[in-house]
Amino acid sequence: MTAEYPRAARELLIRGGTVADGSGGDPGPADVLVRDGRIAAVEAPAVIPPGDREIIDATGLVVAPGFIDVHSHADNAPLLAEDDTAKILQGITTEVVGNCGFSLAPTSAESLASLTSFAKRIFPPIDFSWASWSDFTDRTDSRGYVTNYAPLVGHGTLRIAILGMADATPDADELAAMGRLLDDALENGAFGMSSGLVYPPAVYSDTEEIVELARHLGASGLYATHMRGEGDSLLSSISETVRIGTEGGCRVHISHLKWTGKRNWGNMSTALSTIHDAAAAGLSITKDVYPYTAGSTMLTALLPPPFLADGDEGVLARLESPEQLRQLATVMETGLPGWDSHQRAAGWDGILVSTTGSHRYEGSTIGELALSLNLPPMDVLVRILREERLQASMVLFAMREDDVRTALADTDTMIGTDGLPPGSGGKPHPRVFGTFPRVLGEYVRNNEVLPLGEAVRRMTSLPARVFRIPERGSVRPGFVADLVAFDPQTIDHPCDYRDPVHPPSGIAWVMQAGRPVVDRTTYLGPRRGRRLTPAV
Ligand SMILES: [Zn+2]
Repeated sequence: MTAEYPRAARELLIRGGTVADGSGGDPGPADVLVRDGRIAAVEAPAVIPPGDREIIDATGLVVAPGFIDVHSHADNAPLLAEDDTAKILQGITTEVVGNCGFSLAPTSAESLASLTSFAKRIFPPIDFSWASWSDFTDRTDSRGYVTNYAPLVGHGTLRIAILGMADATPDADELAAMGRLLDDALENGAFGMSSGLVYPPAVYSDTEEIVELARHLGASGLYATHMRGEGDSLLSSISETVRIGTEGGCRVHISHLKWTGKRNWGNMSTALSTIHDAAAAGLSITKDVYPYTAGSTMLTALLPPPFLADGDEGVLARLESPEQLRQLATVMETGLPGWDSHQRAAGWDGILVSTTGSHRYEGSTIGELALSLNLPPMDVLVRILREERLQASMVLFAMREDDVRTALADTDTMIGTDGLPPGSGGKPHPRVFGTFPRVLGEYVRNNEVLPLGEAVRRMTSLPARVFRIPERGSVRPGFVADLVAFDPQTIDHPCDYRDPVHPPSGIAWVMQAGRPVVDRTTYLGPRRGRRLTPAV
């Protein structure tokens, strides 16, 4: 395939492939004509004459709409000097960012210090030199996008702008101020509001606060949530989400549905029936999963909410207090009402340090580090958090395979990478590099958890409809020619948590608006993605 296609009047004929058009039906042989960046025709093989058209031979390949990653944290990708290629190399052409309550805008002068230090726990250094939502998107627009960018505005970010990192409840004026920032983002292209109710400062919010903000979204608006609990409190957290959708009058989407902790394993179908009941009662409620039994988040997520108050200063001061550390050890062992301890769910051997500011400790579990450093595991955790000034993330082994499969097989479950922000190096969760190929290899081909055409639908037209991604997600005339071609026999990604940074196998090529951007494992560039605005 050649790298240059003039913008207009050039036609491209993709011949001999098997087309999975995003509708969910079985893929079948078809040829696809692309004209001026859009799909012009989809016909039975050999109906469209080659003429003087550019020909791409797709024999042996499945041709599908570019994948839509509904759960990305690559908000900072446009700002990086390097191209973040982890998503495009797996066939993802659109990323929904701003998840788990954390978007990079809006900011306020008073809260800048809190926002900067909170962001540092998981993002590479960011110079927050913007204020409003539009200031931020002007900046990202000027830098360009590898994949299309569909940003949500984060409730946590709204809260930080008005209340900082305080363990506080907003009064009526403060809540109204958060609502005005939310309205401004929605009027300027945000795809909805996300929340991360396990993370400070959102963890200090009550349901009423979220309901009040959800009312700003309107009936066609979307509230996407990393719920308050994904372990012992999963069912009550789903109930809270249902209440927010019902009282807030908006659509709801559960991010990275999972059930952690041994005592909860095997019960995923119970969680799914709760969701189905809410849908049957008339709520628009959807969810996504990533195809792994390990999660990943910032290392500070091991600490209980009271320990996390008042930003970095507060946390680091508590980490110096013997009395506070004694209480911490007890609470992490027992949990708190409404708060699930990740440490209890995974055990010290199930917590793998993935990325740190200094790159020390990466690739070992806390259990292993305890042995090699000859320290109790709790002391290892405290040492890493102190030495790295809280800049550390982890991979957390706390789920069971059959629950992942049950959730993946369920009606209308979408796929998200939950890939943490690029640019920090280390050993990120392999989901960053392989989520979509792994679903197609491990769960479609090897284990037949769902059929190929249906898997492609959950990666394309379904998220396009729910997240209002315009003109993408289907191989149909008129749609933008964001396409991926892959070999269904070889597509996969090795799931190696200690050596995760590899491109997937089986991707043949990716194109955006009719232009090739990936040739096998090579990103061709330049940045051809764009920021999208919600379909009306
Ligand atoms: Zn999350």
